Amino acid sequence: MLIGSEAEMIDYGEKFAKSLTAPQVIELLGDVGAGKTTFTRGLAKGLGIKAAVTSPSFTISKLYQGEKYQLAHYDFYRLEDPGLMSEDLEESIRDPNMITVVEWGESIRGVLPDNRKVVEIKYIDENSREINIR
Ligand code: ADP
Ligand code: MG
Repeated sequence: MLIGSEAEMIDYGEKFAKSLTAPQVIELLGDVGAGKTTFTRGLAKGLGIKAAVTSPSFTISKLYQGEKYQLAHYDFYRLEDPGLMSEDLEESIRDPNMITVVEWGESIRGVLPDNRKVVEIKYIDENSREINIR
């Protein structure tokens, strides 16, 4: 599906969130600047999270409290050895109330469950993105 603006991406993430029941893992695929974190901001909005969602790049993970569920947002960008963060992630995945979103999950893919949803975002032009969910 083609998304024409950042605001539209946030709306899309918000609607997607409303289709989810915890526990659920969502793997986000796409280059730097594709819109993975922007999509996650919409998803957080859909979960009733009021806090501002920012990229967890330096802390690797951030936790937010939604209305029904919690959101754990991981970003393993350039982390070649996830070490203890891999165990932290496994704990989130096991939590029955957790929606777990993972950016740059290549290094920990073995930990991700087969029933995860994979959201792929491709840069088309400055304001447009192609999004596919499988
Ligand atoms: P990523 O997490 O994939 O690196 P970000 O979500 O941090 O990407 O950044 C995406 C950037 O692209 C933001 O600056 C956002 O404003 C911009 N952007 C422009 N159009 C869109 C769109 N349709 N969807 C998502 N982001 C968009
Ligand atoms: Mg990001």
